[in-house]
Amino acid sequence: MIERAKIESLIAALVRIESINPDLVEGGSGEEKIARFVADYLTRAGLESAFRVCAPASAQMPCRANAVGILKGRGGGRSLMLNGHLDTVGVAGMHEPFSGRVEGGRLYGRGAQDMKGGIAAALIAIESLANGPALKGDVVFAGVADEEFESKGTRALLENVRTDAAVVMEPTGLEVVTAHKGFVWAQVHTLGRAAHGSRPEEGLDAIAFMGRVLGKIEALEGELRRHPHPRLGPGSVHASTISGGQELSSYPAESQLRIERRLLPGEDAQTFERELGEILSGLSSADKSFRAELKMGYSAQALETPLEARIVRTLMASATKIIGPRAKLGAQSYWTDAAFLSQAGISSVLFGPGGSGLHSAEEFVLVDEVAQCSEVLVECAREFCNREP
Ligand SMILES: [Zn+2]
Repeated sequence: MIERAKIESLIAALVRIESINPDLVEGGSGEEKIARFVADYLTRAGLESAFRVCAPASAQMPCRANAVGILKGRGGGRSLMLNGHLDTVGVAGMHEPFSGRVEGGRLYGRGAQDMKGGIAAALIAIESLANGPALKGDVVFAGVADEEFESKGTRALLENVRTDAAVVMEPTGLEVVTAHKGFVWAQVHTLGRAAHGSRPEEGLDAIAFMGRVLGKIEALEGELRRHPHPRLGPGSVHASTISGGQELSSYPAESQLRIERRLLPGEDAQTFERELGEILSGLSSADKSFRAELKMGYSAQALETPLEARIVRTLMASATKIIGPRAKLGAQSYWTDAAFLSQAGISSVLFGPGGSGLHSAEEFVLVDEVAQCSEVLVECAREFCNREP
């Protein structure tokens, strides 16, 4: 049994270190301070550990860093990574973002649930593994930078770390999550012709052109809904931001639309590029004056780990042993670093303590679930890492 006071003080210590992603919120501190804290914790627990810079500080940005620790096995077993992001979203509108206050079994603060509670669970788990009999395989703890933006941390990590499997401690409410959606961003630019508002024969209305694009995007959304994935539901597409035009009395020369498409397993950026390409070429063959340009943006694929994968079976058995019939398999809509790990050949799942207030004004994690998560991770590592690869 893990001491409750120890769990609470560790989560609170993590929450009190502001680690807002500076790519999301100007002035955010990034991960340097929290990565040093975590690396020190791992060293004290007896691991080979390191503070690793993944993007050095610049005039505009603070240093971005990972904390990585390896609990070396005796050899001959499978290796497991416990991966958690150190960054958080911003704190606008929050009353006490860094208090770490505990009340009624809830610990409050930005990142308490997403995902400093999960990080605390994994740190305590790896410490208790370090104090127990040596495992055959290695257990790697990876506290990573920038998951909330472009995953600089996990991408840097993958340059020199590989394990057989990974558990990413996102707040799943102790569900073993094996699938989530991916996403892709794109920008459409329609081109009209500026003219005085009194001269329709000269003007081409770029915003009206964009209206046609929006109509087709809505139709695409309807089409996507007709093909749901059995565990994730349908893919989706929506307009994110729109701009255009100069002033009231003129035909707008251009309009910009930014769009997001959520992807199912098997879909990627090319899927959306093809869909948008068809929309735009259809509109220009219907009207020769229609002109538009397409620019694809950042994208990340979905996660779909087979239910028969060893890590899924082992984690489910471990969860069932600790939390009983509450243990279950699940799927999530939001994207995580597990997709990158999976693409790199590391069989990955999500499993972490629940709470409420993901990215919103009041966030908390359930302390009991952090304790249970930690016990499940210990059990899972013993089962997984003591077997041959
Ligand atoms: Zn998260």
